Amino acid sequence: MSREQVRIAVVGAGIGGLTVAAALARSGLRCDVFEQARLFGEVGAGVQLAPNAARLLHRLGIGERFRQVAVRPRAIEMRRWDDNSVLRTIPLVPECEQLFGAPYYTVLRADLHRSLLERLPVGMVHLGLHCTEVIERAGEVALRFADGSSATADVVIGADGIHSRVRELLVRDEPRYSGQSIYRAVVPADQLAFLGTEPKVVLWLGPGRHCVCYPVAGGQQISLAATVPDPQWGAESWSAQGRALDLAEAYRGWHPEVRAVTSAPDTLGRWALHDRERLRRWSTNRITLVGDAAHPMLPFLAQGANQAIEDAVALAACLRDVRRGEASQIAVALARYEQAREPRTTEVQRMSRANTTALHLPDGVEQCRRDDALAAQTMLADQEWIYGYDAEAAVVA
Ligand SMILES: Cc1cc2nc3c(=O)[nH]c(=O)nc-3n(C[C@H](O)[C@H](O)[C@H](O)COP(=O)(O)OP(=O)(O)OC[C@H]3O[C@@H](n4cnc5c(N)ncnc54)[C@H](O)[C@@H]3O)c2cc1C
Repeated sequence: MSREQVRIAVVGAGIGGLTVAAALARSGLRCDVFEQARLFGEVGAGVQLAPNAARLLHRLGIGERFRQVAVRPRAIEMRRWDDNSVLRTIPLVPECEQLFGAPYYTVLRADLHRSLLERLPVGMVHLGLHCTEVIERAGEVALRFADGSSATADVVIGADGIHSRVRELLVRDEPRYSGQSIYRAVVPADQLAFLGTEPKVVLWLGPGRHCVCYPVAGGQQISLAATVPDPQWGAESWSAQGRALDLAEAYRGWHPEVRAVTSAPDTLGRWALHDRERLRRWSTNRITLVGDAAHPMLPFLAQGANQAIEDAVALAACLRDVRRGEASQIAVALARYEQAREPRTTEVQRMSRANTTALHLPDGVEQCRRDDALAAQTMLADQEWIYGYDAEAAVVA
């Protein structure tokens, strides 16, 4: 029986796809990543990476690069929408490293992509290849691309996001519109000097919507995101240019600091926020999914990318000792990965959806109850289940 390396194809070079490639490369395994985009664009947005993902990224060797491009916010502050009063402060430095052994980062998506790409051997990522078909047959999987080209592999990993083509081949379901859209932008930090020099994640909670901002790009820029409810919009559009006037109107009456943040950008993107129903299984004997392809979630716990990174590193660990020609080993590895990941990602997906209500309560009895509960949660140790989790150790054990 052959002891050659297993041939692994990854569809999608987003956060999950690049992390799985970097984690496989760390184990000396090669893979081919097929990405539909012709170029890696500059997505004008940041991402929060909590200790549960940061510890895995450090193991992949991106700590050094992150020292230059990422920010370690000192705290997360939750504030009221109208008077800017602080509802809860969650200290992050030095607590995250003391309690969980890894920091909390905020980083530009483009900087995260670049940091992961730097960890990959040249020639692993193939751009401009939109995967249209994945066919599992005895002994291998065939991939077909929109340009007429094709490839074969022993294992296929669908890391192709919420609109996953690979998922479509495993299950028939549709994304669910949350009724919320979100405006995102990045602006120079000196335009929002009132936010102060201490790096923080600030979240303003108000009736029907919330706004969040934090520093990225070594503190030179501020990433902001502001939700706006709209029952119709998401049914018509996935993403579009946002109109500054619409955003200003949506935040009329909010505290001047929120209005200054939301009116700062010259250009705005607007996205419809979708998730999908939970999947109990997302693998066959040779095909599996990671990240949003498996469990797309609303961004209301800031964990979608974190979970994609957890998936990627856990899957690479499961595939580490699999050899080509040993088909049953592949199926066992994929099943082990899925069984380890499904309960956790289901819980995070559920909580993200539940926050649609909790973050957007109108002023009243329930909102007072929520704010009292927030004020009472002073311990970061409450977050052990999410920030303290080691997704790689969980599958290695
Ligand atoms: C407003 C907002 C804020 C967020 N903030 C956070 C946050 O702070 N922290 C956090 O952890 N998460 C956050 N998330 C969630 C996070 O962005 C996603 O969970 C994460 O990007 C998922 O990564 P992924 O690699 O699975 O998918 P994606 O990042 O969507 O990557 C999929 C890749 O596959 C490619 N692709 C798609 N189809 C094909 C095909 N057929 N063939 C070839 N290539 C294909 C795409 O071009 C893309 O490059 C946020 C999400 C939103 C909308």
